[in-house]
Amino acid sequence: MKNTPKTLALLGEDAARFIAKDKKMFIDGAWCPAAGGSVIEVEDPATGQMFDRVPRGLAADVDLAVAAARAAFDEGPWGQMSPAERGKLVWKLGDLVEAHADELAQLEALDNGKPVTDARIGDVAFSYELLRYMAGWSTKITGQTIPLSAEAPFHAYTLREAVGVCGQIVPWNFSFMMAVWKVAPALAAGCTIVLKPAEQTPLTALRFAELVEEAGFPKGVFNVVTGYGHEAGAALAAHPDVDKIAFTGSTEVGRKILDAAQGNLKKVSLELGGKSPMIVFPDADPDVAIPAIGYGIFYNMGQTCTAGTRLYIHKDIAPVILEGLKTFAENMTVGVGLDPATQIGPLVSKEQFDKVLGYIEAGLADGATLLCGGTQVGEEGYFIAPTILTETKPHMSVVCEEIFGPVLSVATFDDDGFEEIVKEANASVYGLAGSVFTRDISRAHQVARKLKAGTIGINTHHVIDPALPFGGFKQSGWGREQGYEAILLYTEVKSVGVAL
Ligand code: ADP
Repeated sequence: MKNTPKTLALLGEDAARFIAKDKKMFIDGAWCPAAGGSVIEVEDPATGQMFDRVPRGLAADVDLAVAAARAAFDEGPWGQMSPAERGKLVWKLGDLVEAHADELAQLEALDNGKPVTDARIGDVAFSYELLRYMAGWSTKITGQTIPLSAEAPFHAYTLREAVGVCGQIVPWNFSFMMAVWKVAPALAAGCTIVLKPAEQTPLTALRFAELVEEAGFPKGVFNVVTGYGHEAGAALAAHPDVDKIAFTGSTEVGRKILDAAQGNLKKVSLELGGKSPMIVFPDADPDVAIPAIGYGIFYNMGQTCTAGTRLYIHKDIAPVILEGLKTFAENMTVGVGLDPATQIGPLVSKEQFDKVLGYIEAGLADGATLLCGGTQVGEEGYFIAPTILTETKPHMSVVCEEIFGPVLSVATFDDDGFEEIVKEANASVYGLAGSVFTRDISRAHQVARKLKAGTIGINTHHVIDPALPFGGFKQSGWGREQGYEAILLYTEVKSVGVAL
């Protein structure tokens, strides 16, 4: 019997029906248990109770899924399909995701704990728009005609071809959206896929597989293996028949993926950690800056790789910004993810909860000042109040390390130039995102150029769009997702020369 935490009562009919099903993995167009027969329990982070279980896939299951993806790529109808037919299938998948958007948002909110309203208008809506955006690329992946300098006459051109079988390993913070970020361009390019969702949040990947099946993709094109990172994930990253591995997660695991990938030198793309700075100059508009900074750090309970975790405010504007941020943080509605009014849900797991509280404690022990939050909310589940620590210094762990929780560290500066503060903002091993708040357009663009990060916001923080390349400088990753850059990640270039 599955446990039934009280939050399940908040599910709609469709999501409840899905939860009631026995969960199986999707391999070669069929639903199957793990070869070893064991399962992973799925926890509701709002209550700490187990409510579901999914197969615990091992290397043997990964072997089956990779073999299916290999056959679908090398011999199946997928490779013969015209780009237009492929694009239509990807578009249809986008339509199906939109048709089931409320259900998917509820499953994500239950599994991860995130606010269902954010999941619906953020994660899920972004995903169906991305599927459609990438569907459009299917018919526009082209090579070039290249004039050669050789003396004899040549006709030379390039072909851009699908890279092959792709292993895709995704984290728990945006489990559904991260999966679609990887699946959509890979399908548009003509690759086949083995997806491994995070063990904490496997449900939406399995529901997505049902939609892939309903859309009518040929068998083996898309496979899902649920399981632990060190088991199924490691087997997928090391698999000799996988041509490319795409990973989003911690920098630490990113290094393991690289090690595992070296056996067959598979292509690797990585979207890793972040510690993004937000800089506020004295001429910033507080009405713009305060909510942007508030969401910049507290969106998804700070469990966002682009989270604006380090705030640098000019001393002249610090009092008004800090007062506004404190009010913003204290007024956020904390509750179970499935309640549409919730703005702050629980963190995903006890492990994450303990880790974040540990960072807050360390920050205070290091001499930071608590402006608000800092503690658990309620007595069950993994809720932590939005937390702001001021007077933080560069050496503190809350400033240098990725916390992945609702914790903002704040420092002030008094120099009217921007060189010094940008230097401090850049003093991080990460380089995923950053933002600047000012009404001086020249300074805004100059800071945008100087910040060493993959995405910069001017008078805003989180900037993502299906068309806009996304990825990291430095230890935040390799490669760019979204936009045409994502198509480049899933294709290889072949040069062809013809002696005329
Ligand atoms: P987080 O720190 O956000 O929990 P992780 O980097 O640990 O993220 O996990 C992200 C994804 O990587 C998950 O799907 C997880 O199962 C997987 N993973 C963890 N360890 C490994 C590993 N050694 N090899 C491959 N995948 C792994």
